[in-house]
Amino acid sequence: MIIEFLGGCEEIGREAFLVKDGNTNVLLEYGVELQPNIKLPLLPAVKIDGLFVSHAHLDHSGMVPLIYKFQNPTLYATPATLDLMNLLLEDYIKVAGLTRGFSEYQKYDIAKMNKHFKSCSYNQKFKIGKLTAKLFDASHIPGSASIYISGSKSILYTGDINAISTYLLDYKEINYPKIDCLITESTYSEREHPNRKTEEKRFIDKITEYENGLVLLPTFAVGRAQELLLMLYSNGIKREIYLDGMAQKASDIILYYKKYIKNSDILKKVLKKVNFIRTKKQRDKIIKNGGIVVTTSGMLNGGPIVYYLKKVRNVKNTCLLITGYQAPGTPGEKILKTRYFENEENKFKVNIEVQKFDFSGHAGRKELFNLIKKISPKKVICVHGDNTKKFAMEITKKLKIEASAPKIGESIEI
Ligand SMILES: [Zn+2]
Repeated sequence: MIIEFLGGCEEIGREAFLVKDGNTNVLLEYGVELQPNIKLPLLPAVKIDGLFVSHAHLDHSGMVPLIYKFQNPTLYATPATLDLMNLLLEDYIKVAGLTRGFSEYQKYDIAKMNKHFKSCSYNQKFKIGKLTAKLFDASHIPGSASIYISGSKSILYTGDINAISTYLLDYKEINYPKIDCLITESTYSEREHPNRKTEEKRFIDKITEYENGLVLLPTFAVGRAQELLLMLYSNGIKREIYLDGMAQKASDIILYYKKYIKNSDILKKVLKKVNFIRTKKQRDKIIKNGGIVVTTSGMLNGGPIVYYLKKVRNVKNTCLLITGYQAPGTPGEKILKTRYFENEENKFKVNIEVQKFDFSGHAGRKELFNLIKKISPKKVICVHGDNTKKFAMEITKKLKIEASAPKIGESIEI
């Protein structure tokens, strides 16, 4: 079995791993790197029999329609992943058109992709040529999966994975099969998360401090937005909450796929109470009267958050609470470092309180090590991280398991 690394190596973004075994070729993910610049994975040079997508986030799924320009592989994912992907991919076309004047694929490529979809449930075995495959719940976002492939050798690719329960997702211990090779994400290989309860208290205290003002919560549309809504509700926050941008449609899809989430009844209740915002007039009214705004985009590079920030950058009793990963070079990362907002069109000083909170959907350093120990594969390959080489060296040293961190374009035979 040979694994070709087409992207997602020593970086977070453009995940793409080609698994070749005998005459069968499967592609795990075909993502896009968005931040700070668009980067695509390498194109697979063989005919693909199956394409697996672990979850809808664009760094894992963003270039999948490009494959369908040239090929017709069966697409394997959970139905929630497919619907959320459709939402994010159509938005990708729109944003790419607006910012660069072109997109690598069009709506008809997405339509073609949808035609080749095969709906997968967790823990269900299925065949692709001579390979057997299975998806396991990865607890990262609704519908997210780890991917197990077995042929002449067996591998498990974690996808983005979490190891704790959140308001949105219930973490369950999984009995993984014995495998030869683990391909693991490495997002937090160098960092521990702070205690979630302490972090949540700090977050709620900060929101309470601004109870007469405006609280801006920039967020990823899929997963984090819903987690924040549930967190606000569960902590008894009674103020008006506004949901703006793509998080609205994402919430509807997530609510539709109840079986993937923990508190679907509560989420339904929360979404009924939340005010959905669509117009500038509505936004201006909120800016005037205050409230809590949950809005895209999570790294502040677009979406309604930019409109709010521009208007309230000097307004007293306003705060910006960032709760997600901020990729290097994004406006979100810059604001945290310099208190300046900067994108292609705007640069301005932000004179409101800015705070960062960690409600990550990824396993922290300790959990990643525990996961590797538990699975105890013969070999570990580290991907999806800023410092995968260091992580691989630590795995070899601490766990006495052979580990490596390939470069883009490299192949590894297992
Ligand atoms: Zn993700």
